[in-house]
Amino acid sequence: MAERFQALVVEEIDGKPSAQFKSLSMDDLPAHDVLVQVEYSTLNYKDGLAVSGKQKIVRKPPLVAGIDLAGTVVESRSAEFKPGERVVVNGWGLSETQSGGYTRYQRVKPEWLTRIPGRFSTKQAMAIGTAGYTSALCMEAIEKWGVRNGPVLVTGAAGGVGSMAVALAAARGYSVTASTGRPAVHDYLQKLGASAFVSREELAAEGGPLQKERWGAAIDAVGGQTPVNVLSQTLYGGAVAACGLAGNAKMPNATVLPHILRGVALLGVDSVMAPRAARQAAWDRLARDLDPDRLAAATTEEPMSKLPQLANQILSGEVRGRIVIDVTR
Ligand code: NDP
Repeated sequence: MAERFQALVVEEIDGKPSAQFKSLSMDDLPAHDVLVQVEYSTLNYKDGLAVSGKQKIVRKPPLVAGIDLAGTVVESRSAEFKPGERVVVNGWGLSETQSGGYTRYQRVKPEWLTRIPGRFSTKQAMAIGTAGYTSALCMEAIEKWGVRNGPVLVTGAAGGVGSMAVALAAARGYSVTASTGRPAVHDYLQKLGASAFVSREELAAEGGPLQKERWGAAIDAVGGQTPVNVLSQTLYGGAVAACGLAGNAKMPNATVLPHILRGVALLGVDSVMAPRAARQAAWDRLARDLDPDRLAAATTEEPMSKLPQLANQILSGEVRGRIVIDVTR
């Protein structure tokens, strides 16, 4: 195939990451066993960091950016996947040490691929993306631990992980409280399934180590003082799944008291290197629980050409829900 196609490549210029659109050919792709024609990618917080160059996410430049891709297998040297199959890749080092999803074609290792559940189109798979699949991992974590008899709290609720977590938790019948710094998104979050709200500021203020018990479980995408307060407000025996740092990577003023006096668990969730069985369980959960109308309400589509601008918007907390990237435009 002599075809050429556009890709967003992060290079290092004067020691700093710099994202540039490049015209690539098949020869520029890695030599992995499965060639995928990418239909859609997406924008996650980590993509914002990589594309804006605000953090060195790409550790082996030059690399195509984009931690997610969804498309159709075109060629395969693996017995496991055949041409025509619809597949998704989330993480596995894409845009860090491996070439990623902001491109029309990509070669990937078969063990990175998950078949897209029949219920979802490639576009819906990317509307879910790493953010949605991570929220499903968080739901798996808290339900495996056991959700106590109280509302499920979701922080950073209007973001990608948060929006999907609200929809998934509501679908399981929990009463969902959404924490957001944007009162203007309350209607949106109600449509996704939230029934109560707590302000971002309230959870970000310093509080005592054992506060009034409020939450049956929680999913935290923001870090900082927030999960410290949430842990100290979680019901006896409950759990908080921590997956994000949109506010801060540190947990200031944390104490062991919620853990040792109330048996509250802090459950760490990583999507990038999660084993295949955990990914499959998360995608099965999404196929079972995620309402397509709610997914559509949380999704905006944008062309790949707008990524440099969108990267800055997600880092400044301006993006609502999920952005799907059409890699052909
Ligand atoms: P988004 O930018 O879409 O969402 C983040 C949300 O956090 C914002 O919408 C906002 O919600 C809230 N927020 C933003 N800035 C602050 C702040 N300074 N203080 C408190 N809250 C803030 O990002 P994603 O949903 O894609 O990712 C969320 C986090 O999860 C990121 O840190 C990301 O790196 C992490 N992540 C981790 C994964 C893992 O494998 N562990 C996988 C995927 C994501 P609101 O406006 O409602 O307040």
